[in-house]
Amino acid sequence: MKINNQTITVLESLLQHGVSRRSFLKFSALTASLLALPLNSRLAFSERLANAMRPSVIWLHFQECTACTESLTRSFTPSLESLLLEMISLEYHETLMVDAGKAASARLEDVIEKGNYILIIEGSLSHRDGWCTIANENSYAHLEHALEHAALVLAVGTCAAYGGLPRAAPNPSDAASVSEFMEHTAAPLINLPGCPPVPEVITGAVAYYLAYGEAPELDEEGRPLCFYGRTVHDRCPRKGSYNAGKFAESFDDEGARKGWCLLHLGCKGPETHNACSTIGWNDSTSSPMHSGHGCLGCSEAGFWDRWGTDRGIYRNLDDPVKPGQRTGHQ
Ligand code: SF4
Ligand code: SF4
Repeated sequence: MKINNQTITVLESLLQHGVSRRSFLKFSALTASLLALPLNSRLAFSERLANAMRPSVIWLHFQECTACTESLTRSFTPSLESLLLEMISLEYHETLMVDAGKAASARLEDVIEKGNYILIIEGSLSHRDGWCTIANENSYAHLEHALEHAALVLAVGTCAAYGGLPRAAPNPSDAASVSEFMEHTAAPLINLPGCPPVPEVITGAVAYYLAYGEAPELDEEGRPLCFYGRTVHDRCPRKGSYNAGKFAESFDDEGARKGWCLLHLGCKGPETHNACSTIGWNDSTSSPMHSGHGCLGCSEAGFWDRWGTDRGIYRNLDDPVKPGQRTGHQ
């Protein structure tokens, strides 16, 4: 069977590429758990994912540093190769693809024409003509063309979701998020902010869509609640010392050595919604708070400017910021 859009299921593709059924079941069980699916629906999730048609994916890069792609290459189960080359059909990715120039553009056109693809965006757009161009096309025109027949749009990383670093003052490129260009787009948008996002958040969002054909439940900022519904602070390994009022006051004092709370050293965990404390990084071995550095707030709107000059003395510990609530952002 030809491996192409809509011609083979996810499981058939995995088996053809030498991934065992056992490995698939392990991946689907882990993903169902990360998605916080009820126990009694996890088997059905696995079956749905196995029988989902392998979709085409277009991955576009705009104003970014490629760390979101780097983050995905660090996802542990499945590896990037098995995710991108076996679960999905990655048709166009400017960093990873072999094609270049006119051959790459022709490939992109072909996938857009066929339609029904997942469109993944990494990086912010530029409102300015000539500032960020791909194949002689301005970033927003390039995006709007790719949006035409997309079934689902993922804004991967804080730059795509909110504007990110390119949007930081003085914002020379007049940078903008993907959502600002989706007014006339029927496809759902999932924002997966983070600088970079937790890789399992990306794979989890894709797996959910493949299984159910729709986005998981989102907060008012378009982020999946299963990954962004809690703050980093909620599940932080230092929460006990926070509750006990024990705070490190410098990175080399006794409190820091004892693993006390990093709030007084600028931790933004109480205002930041992300899965770092629960899923963790590097094969779930660590997170910034595990290794002695506070959260920088990278998955919230307004990162970098929002907290750039504030050393992080949290404004009101009894009044945590709710998802979608912004503080001092443009
Ligand atoms: S280190 Fe940060 S996230 Fe952890 S308990 Fe302290 S304030 Fe909360
Ligand atoms: S701990 Fe905070 S700054 Fe670090 S990746 Fe997670 S949300 Fe971003």
